[in-house]
Amino acid sequence: MGKISIAIDKITGTLFDDYTLQGTKEFDTDTWTQVCDKCASEHCLQDSYLELGAGHGVCGVLGCKRQADHYYDFNREEKEFKSNY
Ligand SMILES: [Zn+2]
Repeated sequence: MGKISIAIDKITGTLFDDYTLQGTKEFDTDTWTQVCDKCASEHCLQDSYLELGAGHGVCGVLGCKRQADHYYDFNREEKEFKSNY
């Protein structure tokens, strides 16, 4: 039994399993991740929080394994779920 940490975007309710806390207080948001084009439109992520074309690596949305296209900043609520892997 392991634990995975999930961050929930307070605005859109999107679940992320890969994300990074902002290092300083100079940002409006406390968390950033990277997302693919498909997730950005499916989850209606707001353009003002997207840095288009700047993302790389695997999309941070829970369950998505596509390559990311954009950075995405958000404010999070964190939850821990138990998982079987
Ligand atoms: Zn995605």
